[in-house]
Amino acid sequence: WHGSRMHIPFDNTYAQLPAQMYTAQLPTPVNAPQMIAYNADLAAILGIDPADLDTPEAAQVFAGNHIPDGAVPLSQVYAGHQFGNWNPQLGDGRAVLLGEVVGTDGIRRDIQLKGSGPTPYSRQGDGRAWLGPVIREYLVSEAMHAMGVPTTRALAAVTTGEDVYREEVFPGAVIARVAQSYIRVGTFQYFASRGDMTALHALTDHVIARHYPQANGPAELLDLVIARYAGLIAKWMGLGFIHGVMNTDNVSIAGETIDYGPCAFIDGFHPDSVFSAIDQFGRYAYSNQPGIGAWNMAQFATALIPLMPEREAAITDFTAAVHRMPGIYETEWLNVFRTKLGIANPDEGDHSLITDLLDLMTKDGADFTNTFSNLHTAAARDQFINRDAFDAWAQRWHQRNPAHDLMMRANPQVIPRNHRIEEVIVAGRHGDYAPFHALLAAVTQPDQLHPDFARAPSKDEQVTRTFCGT
Ligand code: AMP
Ligand code: MG
Ligand code: MG
Repeated sequence: WHGSRMHIPFDNTYAQLPAQMYTAQLPTPVNAPQMIAYNADLAAILGIDPADLDTPEAAQVFAGNHIPDGAVPLSQVYAGHQFGNWNPQLGDGRAVLLGEVVGTDGIRRDIQLKGSGPTPYSRQGDGRAWLGPVIREYLVSEAMHAMGVPTTRALAAVTTGEDVYREEVFPGAVIARVAQSYIRVGTFQYFASRGDMTALHALTDHVIARHYPQANGPAELLDLVIARYAGLIAKWMGLGFIHGVMNTDNVSIAGETIDYGPCAFIDGFHPDSVFSAIDQFGRYAYSNQPGIGAWNMAQFATALIPLMPEREAAITDFTAAVHRMPGIYETEWLNVFRTKLGIANPDEGDHSLITDLLDLMTKDGADFTNTFSNLHTAAARDQFINRDAFDAWAQRWHQRNPAHDLMMRANPQVIPRNHRIEEVIVAGRHGDYAPFHALLAAVTQPDQLHPDFARAPSKDEQVTRTFCGT
């Protein structure tokens, strides 16, 4: 490994926590790193000189070949419930945390490389990622950010010049990504399940100081995490977003969307939609996300119980806190969909106005994004087969005096549609990144009209299955 001329103003705190919480781990160097894309806006927030990104050195850094001064690379250990089944040990199997940076906005963030080689937590995996998932995460996470959804972000993507073996041989890639932190529900579960009170206390103190300084102890931390997570899921629902793998190891304690595996945006609406090829029973279907969210918070609550001196009382209190989540979610969901309908003044009838529209959309398979983005024009009506039913609904809606500007801000004109992402990945495999850059430009300006990218897929173009395709 070489040092690097690139300056990243690291200020690391996780690396000072008890040693059993991570393993020091350098990335494994790759043959021939080449930059696909970098995020100059995000770099500026992190205090990285954007001029440093447009150099061959930047590809070396983001591939893990060169380690900038101040980085203390490590892989984090965690556990988790995967599709409801307990897995006592997971961890960063192909990722290293380079370190933390306090941004120009005062927010501390992790900079992580994913696809950077094997770690002690790799199990059978090769520690690598291929181009497809790297491109998908870059596009979707940056689109989510642009649409106002808390999310990890993409700092840079590089190809490695090495092959990755999956069902086929694919080009290898690494994504440099940024989060308020990569601490998960599963991080708490790991230490709680092992009775490691030293680590559990240290982790809790770290998370409170870093993400929830207003929290006075675990009970308040639980309330705040539940509130943030409920708000996050409501935002997903408002965009027709299906995360796809809401395992507890993929739930960020900071309340950001993390782990863009088999995620997808719904085209033609149906609440039972599932895209992930491995989600056989639809556990993580669109309409199940709020319920699974509460299940995940019950696991978080369970992991906090050992911190409480009065165990029985804490179980009662924490159970009550988890049972409050559906109500908090409902309020958030109402706010999200009211805004999508341009309703500024809440009314008793809003709930049924929203669900009645969603029911009509379900019956007719109306395109989720385009129904909302066109509600104020005649084009929304075209989404429906039963036009009379839609007209009757629209009449009720108009009586609520919808505010156009509110709707324009809440309803994206363009989302990263699955078939578009697939096209971009195919082009990337042939070394052509122009389609990637065109789609990225569109989805990071979601309030602009992009007629071509806004078009719903034809029957032939529809992607119905997504793969972790790691
Ligand atoms: P995920 O389903 O993406 O949340 O991943 C679950 C676990 O599998 C995580 O601990 C990953 O680090 C690990 N993992 C996934 N793919 C690989 C790989 N190719 N090499 C090593 N570990 C992996
Ligand atoms: Mg994961
Ligand atoms: Mg994943």
